[in-house]
Amino acid sequence: MPDTIAAIATGAQVAAIGIVRISGPEALPVVDRLFHPASGKRMSSYENRKLVYGRLTDRNGELLDLCLCTVSRAPNSYTGEDTAELQCHGSPVVLRAALDEIFASGARQALPGEFTRRAFLNGRLELSSAEAVADLIDAESVECAKNAAAQLSGAVAVKIDAIYSALRDISSHYHAVLDYPDEDIEDFRLEGYKCELDSAAASLRALLKSFERGRLMVSGIPAAIVGRPNAGKSSLLNALLGYERAIVTDVPGTTRDTIEEKLRLGSLTLRLCDTAGIRESSDRVEQLGVQRSLRAMESAELVIAVIDGSGDVGGEELELIREAEKARHGLIVLSKADLEQRCTRPDTKLPCVSVSSVTGEGLDELESAIKSLFPLPEVPAGEILTNARQADAVSRALESMDAALEAMSDGCTPDIVLTEAEEAMSALGELTGRSIRQDVTDRIFERFCVGK
Ligand code: GDP
Repeated sequence: MPDTIAAIATGAQVAAIGIVRISGPEALPVVDRLFHPASGKRMSSYENRKLVYGRLTDRNGELLDLCLCTVSRAPNSYTGEDTAELQCHGSPVVLRAALDEIFASGARQALPGEFTRRAFLNGRLELSSAEAVADLIDAESVECAKNAAAQLSGAVAVKIDAIYSALRDISSHYHAVLDYPDEDIEDFRLEGYKCELDSAAASLRALLKSFERGRLMVSGIPAAIVGRPNAGKSSLLNALLGYERAIVTDVPGTTRDTIEEKLRLGSLTLRLCDTAGIRESSDRVEQLGVQRSLRAMESAELVIAVIDGSGDVGGEELELIREAEKARHGLIVLSKADLEQRCTRPDTKLPCVSVSSVTGEGLDELESAIKSLFPLPEVPAGEILTNARQADAVSRALESMDAALEAMSDGCTPDIVLTEAEEAMSALGELTGRSIRQDVTDRIFERFCVGK
């Protein structure tokens, strides 16, 4: 029998309202002891999910707060257990005092994610939906939030379940024919299932592909601003951010280290990194900065190469353009567009935008050029995979499906093909939580905040 847990579910700062949650067999007796409805009735006599006004007291009956309380009984609650929620005034002191009284009445402090973990263990949520709870809370953009909300309502689980069921049907048909040869079961012909196997692999491939963008949607796109000293990199970073983050001087080599800032561009989050200007230098500190710039460029998903449009384009600039062309995504900015331009559009297939960080000219065009490099996959919300654990499970399932299809085209016997398909099923089971190891579940719920 699980014990009763409690935690403050809202933030640590002062706010209008603060919520304390209680879940477990003692939830109702605990609120009956501490919360006294204005009606004079006991809280446990109220129906599920009704908000009741009353007095919250300590165990000696001294008033702590005038607040609201609601209860939900097992199994019709978030955790699947008896639960109570106190909606107090949002003073951290009041909330802490209320929590201490709840502990004194027999509950204990909930661990991070323990409410959602109980919801999962009690079959109220699939594992992928439970993970979406943390993603929804952590979402940094509306797109991330919408995707997580759709996953919370089961978008990934539904997709995976459809593939899982198709594979299970094939496997159970095969085993039924083998195990019950005397029964009147339709002959098993693997070729008849080729279409289902192909479509399972295609769905997995599409889901895995969505992770390329989903991963960037959640963590932000690492973008490096590179170029020669004085090209206008720091000014561009400041202009994009809308405030002075990097120091701008006309002394070459001022930015000696890399500076990273988050920039929101509509649905995109860029992790913009202003780097030390790339040039030969005898200054030890500047040399280190240059090495970091080169590393930032290698790990960046987007390289924005800044070339001083008011200067001449020489060998170093051309080399920079070639480097940007090697990046996963590259873009050329011709800076200082407000000055007389000596540099014409360089010969490159990369998008090229003229920008003035002084007047703001070209900044909108630059933002559009960046956005068009990272379109969102055209799939319904919730079908963009953003979670690395889930992507790993899908990737292993896909490997097994590809092996199954290869075995089939090589003319292998059904048992060999189906062993691979069953491997795929086991990986998919990990995704929804059907077959998952305890240590993996522990790791997943550690990510949550206390009170969720
Ligand atoms: P970085 O070394 O590449 O980071 O270059 P900075 O951003 O520090 O700029 C070098 C010099 O160019 C500074 O004197 C800036 O004021 C100047 N500068 C940068 N961007 C512009 C621009 O768009 N227009 C003009 N007129 N000057 C700029």
